[in-house]
Amino acid sequence: MPRPHCQRRIAGRPRVQVFKPRGVAMNELAEVHLQADAWEALRLCDYEGLDQEQAAARMGVSRPTISRILERGRAAVAKALVEGCSLLIDLPADAVQECADCRGSWPGPAAHVRCPACGSCRMHLLLNPADRT
Ligand SMILES: [Zn+2]
Repeated sequence: MPRPHCQRRIAGRPRVQVFKPRGVAMNELAEVHLQADAWEALRLCDYEGLDQEQAAARMGVSRPTISRILERGRAAVAKALVEGCSLLIDLPADAVQECADCRGSWPGPAAHVRCPACGSCRMHLLLNPADRT
């Protein structure tokens, strides 16, 4: 029986979801998709400088899992940079937004900056990892 997958916690929120090379029309570019969990792993490890153990704890996954997610994210970013593709950050429609303080949750990736129930600003996304790494 396969091990049950834990949901992945995404605390950050991409300010921009699409990057493209300047001077080339979007419809002329190949697209590279960066999944939200890979964006979070890149944010935690390569931007904030956490080690993989710390990042894994923040996302609620194991260290080997964060390593695989990071590898996938770095490969996607490298492909976009080297091949001059557009880079799209995917926020899955089946994500659930949860308040870290009162644990209230709302379906969908729509951004509540503050919790509608308690007013907390500690909101994160929960992703179902099925069919991801
Ligand atoms: Zn709340």
